[in-house]
Amino acid sequence: MAVILSGKAVSAAEREIIRQKTAALVERGVTPCLAVIIVGCDPASQVYVRNKHKACEEVGFRSLVIEMSEQTTTEALLSKISELAADDGVDGILVQLPLPRHIDENAVISAIPPEKDVDAFTLPNVGAIMTGAPRFLPCTPAGIMKILEYGGISVDGKECVVVGRSNIVGKPMAMLLLAKNGTVTVCHSHTGNLAEVTGRADILVVAIGKPRFITADMVKPGAVVIDVGINRGEDGKLCGDVDFESVSQVASAITPVPGGVGPMTITSLLSNTLASAERRAEKLF
Ligand code: NDP
Repeated sequence: MAVILSGKAVSAAEREIIRQKTAALVERGVTPCLAVIIVGCDPASQVYVRNKHKACEEVGFRSLVIEMSEQTTTEALLSKISELAADDGVDGILVQLPLPRHIDENAVISAIPPEKDVDAFTLPNVGAIMTGAPRFLPCTPAGIMKILEYGGISVDGKECVVVGRSNIVGKPMAMLLLAKNGTVTVCHSHTGNLAEVTGRADILVVAIGKPRFITADMVKPGAVVIDVGINRGEDGKLCGDVDFESVSQVASAITPVPGGVGPMTITSLLSNTLASAERRAEKLF
């Protein structure tokens, strides 16, 4: 039976560190501040935004939640972003995705100043990740690297396979593993021999959005398996992209769903916002 890599525990430890560093900053007169803009009333987005707000308050940040109507125009949203961009008291700006279809998502993301882009979505920040000198780390992949670090799992020289090539998870994940000297393969829906490739992995990261897709026969005995997926199974319960029951019998370590990667994503967001506030403090003093 595999060791369970608890993102929940890592997240609690990291958030305590963030809370202490925040208290020290506040004493110097700088309160980290994250502004989250939500457009429309998508229920899942509302839950995510509420969770971010709560997490900010728990570590002592100022949290601004800006709710805009479904009918908001691209121009109105850009104007709100430029207002927050000009506000020296705001360290991070995040626009909750997805946006309503009529809004130009690329224009909106590009309007966020890279130094306040705590999600690391803007082109300059993505480029910085590619070149190995990130200003902010991509939230979900950074959370996964922390889970590996806390689990004492070295990436150096390991065969790493990432299943999924999204801009939010798969691609930046590959970059962070590469930066730690992993030998990285990225798979996607056109990969012909998926089970053969995943079966070579010492470290397997799965982010595809398909419930229990990766089964034990696709995993090398002793592999470390990181499950990014968040799905509702047929039984209505939350489950990952990995069939936990069978894979945990062959893997040496595995993240559960829930309680694995999920809690780490917001923790990375807090960490990026704190880093931005620390840069603000450096300029002030
Ligand atoms: P996307 O839908 O953007 O990307 C899915 C990727 O999986 C694509 O690259 C796609 O390939 C690939 N894929 C789909 N089917 C297969 C298949 N049969 N074989 C191989 N590859 C396949 O998803 P995200 O990256 O945004 O999210 C993935 C999962 O992670 C979701 O369940 C999401 O909810 C979860 N998630 C969890 C987070 C957390 O905090 N824990 C944060 C972000 C996401 P192709 O490019 O060819 O279409």
